[in-house]
Amino acid sequence: MKAITIKPNNIGVEVKDVEIREQLRKGQALIKTVMTGICGTDRGIVSGKISFAYPPEGYTYLVLGHEGLGRVEETGEDVNELKKGDYVVPVVRRGCGECLNCKIGRQDFCETGKFVEAGIRGKHGFMREEFVDDEKYLVKVPEEVRDVAVLTEPLSNVVKAIDELLFLQRRMIWTCEDSTLECRNAYIVGTGPIGTFFAMVLRTLGLQVFMLNRREPSDIEAYISEKIGATFYDTRKGLEGLPEADLIVDTSGVPEAFIPLMKKLKHNSALVLFGTVEGEKAEFVSDLVTEIVEKNILIMGSVNASKKDFQGALNYLSIWKYRYGDVLTRMITRVVSIEEAPNVLTKKVKGEVKTVIKWS
Ligand SMILES: [Zn+2]
Repeated sequence: MKAITIKPNNIGVEVKDVEIREQLRKGQALIKTVMTGICGTDRGIVSGKISFAYPPEGYTYLVLGHEGLGRVEETGEDVNELKKGDYVVPVVRRGCGECLNCKIGRQDFCETGKFVEAGIRGKHGFMREEFVDDEKYLVKVPEEVRDVAVLTEPLSNVVKAIDELLFLQRRMIWTCEDSTLECRNAYIVGTGPIGTFFAMVLRTLGLQVFMLNRREPSDIEAYISEKIGATFYDTRKGLEGLPEADLIVDTSGVPEAFIPLMKKLKHNSALVLFGTVEGEKAEFVSDLVTEIVEKNILIMGSVNASKKDFQGALNYLSIWKYRYGDVLTRMITRVVSIEEAPNVLTKKVKGEVKTVIKWS
């Protein structure tokens, strides 16, 4: 079958015919790939900027792709929830089998680090015509969001991070006098797909949202921010136009982008770090340490998501389809063929929110 593959420590990507030894076993399903999304991690692996990608045992190459959407083609024995024709999204990380978190389906909190991740570390991804997977790692897609369900994986990571944040903010009363979160202001640093999803989830939870970037919004960014009721803010204007913050979510990974914003953080506020990038620096001074201490500021990192977060993401997609109309379909800014994929994996598409590869 056709697959999009990389070789570790080799820059570049190719479409090639691969033979992957997978047999349909008990509790498993054969999935025909429908779409796969492209994200910064894929491009980082292709360009060699991300060095932690490696192939599964016994292979010299890795099939790329962790944002998958597929259709059940065949089911093995003891598959209960899924049947032929169902649409599914596969979970990315697979547990180490040793630690307690992995044993209860919370491999996003794996303690040993011995997990594998499809399309990233030690497991073939979903940029191939078909794959076999365990039912327990497949999330069933409701019919009404099939056309946008390729967005589930990136959104699942956001759902997990917000879930974690809300749990931690129960350290005191964070709700407003009317019991909602409408009096709380959130800054989102970076306006890519992840930043946009943070803005959408937080708006849905009632917070006031400011989407920050060092430029004017693109047409699609202006459209989305207006539609969801968020404010797009160009930080080149200075920070005076922003209210103080109860929450900063950084999706850029650039300390120079979020550290200067921290002086706007209020008492009992939180900073969520989500983006990662290599080689960026900024000064972290003791005055800022004092601020963080004196104001009970929470700093939280978050990565990956569990199956329940994928389900949560699908629930949001259903809600937003009604609430925000064509916002989700417009977030898929380009659909490319398998043959065009190496090109869009090598460089970012102009005006892109999410580029996806169509498989069937
Ligand atoms: Zn583990």
